[in-house]
Amino acid sequence: MSGLSGVGPETAAKLAEIGIVTPADLLAYIPRAYRDWREPMPIATLREGEAIVVGDVLRVKERQGRFPLVTAALQDATGVVEAKWFGRRYLSGRLAPGDRLFVAGRVTRGGLLPEINVGTHRVLRDGERWQGEIVPVYGATKELPSRVIRSVIAKNLDRLIAAQVDALPPSLVRRFGFPPLAQAWREVHAPHDLDAAARAKERIVFDEFFSIALAAAVKRARREAAGGARALTVPGGLWDAFAAEVPFVPTGAQRRVIEGVWRDMTRTAPMNRLLQGDVGSGKTLVAAAAIVLAHKAGVQSALMAPTEILAAQHAAKLAPLLLPFGVTVEAVFGSQGARERRGALERIASGAAALAVGTHALLTESVTFADLGLVVIDEQHRFGVNQRKTLREKSAAPHTLAMTATPIPRTLAQTKYADMDVSIIDELPPGRAAIRTFVIRESRKHEVYEFVRKNVALGQQAYVVAPAIDEAETDLTGALAEAERLRTKVFPDLRVDVLHGKMVPREKDAVMGRFKRGETDVLTATTVVEVGVDVPNASVMVVLDAQRYGLAQLHQLRGRVGRGVAQSFCLLVAPDDAGEVERLHVLEETTDGFAIAEQDLRLRKAGELAGTAQAGDAGTIGSIVDDFALYMRAKEAADAIVAGDPELREPEHRSLRVLLDDNASARAMLVTA
Ligand code: ADP
Ligand code: MG
Repeated sequence: MSGLSGVGPETAAKLAEIGIVTPADLLAYIPRAYRDWREPMPIATLREGEAIVVGDVLRVKERQGRFPLVTAALQDATGVVEAKWFGRRYLSGRLAPGDRLFVAGRVTRGGLLPEINVGTHRVLRDGERWQGEIVPVYGATKELPSRVIRSVIAKNLDRLIAAQVDALPPSLVRRFGFPPLAQAWREVHAPHDLDAAARAKERIVFDEFFSIALAAAVKRARREAAGGARALTVPGGLWDAFAAEVPFVPTGAQRRVIEGVWRDMTRTAPMNRLLQGDVGSGKTLVAAAAIVLAHKAGVQSALMAPTEILAAQHAAKLAPLLLPFGVTVEAVFGSQGARERRGALERIASGAAALAVGTHALLTESVTFADLGLVVIDEQHRFGVNQRKTLREKSAAPHTLAMTATPIPRTLAQTKYADMDVSIIDELPPGRAAIRTFVIRESRKHEVYEFVRKNVALGQQAYVVAPAIDEAETDLTGALAEAERLRTKVFPDLRVDVLHGKMVPREKDAVMGRFKRGETDVLTATTVVEVGVDVPNASVMVVLDAQRYGLAQLHQLRGRVGRGVAQSFCLLVAPDDAGEVERLHVLEETTDGFAIAEQDLRLRKAGELAGTAQAGDAGTIGSIVDDFALYMRAKEAADAIVAGDPELREPEHRSLRVLLDDNASARAMLVTA
């Protein structure tokens, strides 16, 4: 940043705070809005709201003291407005009757004359005509007002633009009728026309989306070309044989997804499939089917889950599904005893074990496979890119099935996960009643607990989830303190237990075991119960301080109940005065995880496009939710180019590599395996 004019160390530090570290970041910091200051408004036409006025000062009044106020009556050909400046001590004595002023600010009406609370003003010279312009407004902080950002960008705009390469193939630029890149940047930061500014922004966002889509397409093409995976053969009648051994009737969605997974596994291009299915949709069966095929074809499988509770649950659920097919299962957990671990590792290394189930412990170097052909990753978003990679690197090119219960909106599926094939289980096993959800104010918390008591009396169990473990350091409800209150005051006659992330695995397992066996009525917990925990007899989920969570996470928590036959409930408790409680009502209205995730994404302004959260990047200019149609056009264009020229070797595509290098999201997409 040091080469830029008007950017000393102090400004550079302030810019860094809003994520602007390089000159390219500065250019990409596009205006949040524009103020149209071209045409002053006739005073007689002023309405409440933002306005600009040019008029002559009739009289000036000044109030000194702690809250100085300057008032000037301004007149144009149509009327008079009272202009007010609050707290601008330096203005004292600066304005005089007869001055011609430009003022911009917010108009209020109510008194005899309209008033304008002045934000910006300028005294016009004798005979000067107001030469207005469109003023860009930048996302600002108290330290770094929009005015300063504007001036830094304006001073350096030519140089910043000169550093940009217009890499989009001319044929695309023509097809979409885009302005040239340099012109687009100029229109965005110094527009002379609002429509042109909007088209210019579209061009810039297109380039960005195109870079990401191109990276995804290139990566996918490389994977296809590299091959190297074992092409497994699906024995005839495998589906019937498999379905016959399953203790329930697979849903249509399960069958469709399993057949897709099996088809992937017959190819030499390693499968890279993401399976999405709401909690309880039956993803475990799909994992089992993939593992059975791998075993039949003579290769081993590994299944990794983010917590010991989940890994253990998988092992327990998979064992009966896999037993009829002779799949032997070994578990690898952090808390395992040394001798037990050694035995497991030996059987995995020798190939005696067909499936290794575990946590991160699977990633350690001491875990080696005789012939690993399939990797299944549950709740894949809970693992870092490198962790997923480490597991896959225990074999040359294993097929990979990633599973998630966090629905990924189609927008992200097409961007962040664009290099994966996505399957969706969109059908719940039969007989599940929809969970009823209510947002409840904290002042009525006692009613929530009465409700819990009623359900417990009916033989059901309940979760009470709190956002923190300890209460002392935060103003959030702590699971430990809440459990204590429940035990001593609210439910002294019920069996209350507590589960949180700082407990050692053995304790956690003991608590979960008691809850599963129905020996606990109310389980107070942190979000460790979020993922995959399956206790069908639990029918009430209470979430305290619900305003602290994203909608998708609440939806996850809600999925802990509704797994049995009883009508289940989710009660979201939020402070009476929390402003953002409004959004929680979305959960009362829908159980469609995709709709919820999409809404969440919209609320979060789609900051984490293309996995850059992990790459430590500042996000994108375009909003993947709001500009999705544009993304899809960029993707089509990128796919078409890569289909004909996968490594971008043709002369007219060489410049595209610049796009891949310059875009952080694209880089992240390409470096992650
Ligand atoms: P998730 O997708 O959340 O991992 P699970 O695989 O754990 O879901 O399945 C949730 C529950 O539903 C399990 O108890 C499982 O045995 C049961 N289940 C799965 N598929 C079916 C089906 N087709 N019919 C009936 N029950 C099923
Ligand atoms: Mg699961």
